[in-house]
Amino acid sequence: MKYVLVSNWKANFTLDEACKWFELVSNFNNPGLRIIASVPYPYIQFLAQNYRNIDVFSQNVSHVLGGAYTGEVTISMLKSVGFKGSIIGHSERRHIFNESDDVINKKVLILENNSSEIILCIGETLIERNEGRTKDVLYNQIVNCLRGFVNFNLLTVAYEPVWAIGTGVPIKIEDLVDAERFIRKIFKQEFNVDDIVLLYGGSVDKEFIKLIKNETTMNGALIGSASWDPQNFLKIIHNFV
Ligand code: PEP
Repeated sequence: MKYVLVSNWKANFTLDEACKWFELVSNFNNPGLRIIASVPYPYIQFLAQNYRNIDVFSQNVSHVLGGAYTGEVTISMLKSVGFKGSIIGHSERRHIFNESDDVINKKVLILENNSSEIILCIGETLIERNEGRTKDVLYNQIVNCLRGFVNFNLLTVAYEPVWAIGTGVPIKIEDLVDAERFIRKIFKQEFNVDDIVLLYGGSVDKEFIKLIKNETTMNGALIGSASWDPQNFLKIIHNFV
């Protein structure tokens, strides 16, 4: 079983703060747990070259391969500075930057074609949950975002209910057990994949990580705010190993 913890920095950290975080967290070294940091673009090269034990991911990649697209950061640029993969389809990209499942699908395939890893985020909004549509939303996001995708070794899925992100209120553990069962069933049914690497994200802290470990068979977590203080992230790591 693969165990993974991802720290999603979002639009935070100066280079100095980024180095301090890596100095502390890269002291943790346990081959049984993979640590990924999804960092802002400008820091990827420096962090990937200077620290061991932490895999450096981006938080996005362009849906175009290059050309007259001012401001876009392409897959070739990211590969040339040593990134390993990218978060794709984070709810902030979907809801603030209007990324559709079609655009997310393009990005997923670009990463796959370049042998780069993908952390695909899926999750329902509060309205969708309250209307009883959670399972339909998850099913549609999975099949639409993964259309044409075949190399499941490159894929990690992060189930992140939108209403739980950044709110301090994680999902109830029994609801997570139910969602995990459903998502794993979709991967078996649609792609014949038995062992998809599946993370939970949404207000994970040093207490909730113990519930994930003890009461689910999830592979780990994607963590935002509780991971930004490196000491706090190390507590989460220690409560998961
Ligand atoms: C996230 O950034 O995907 C996330 C889960 O954030 P938080 O842990 O702050 O809810």
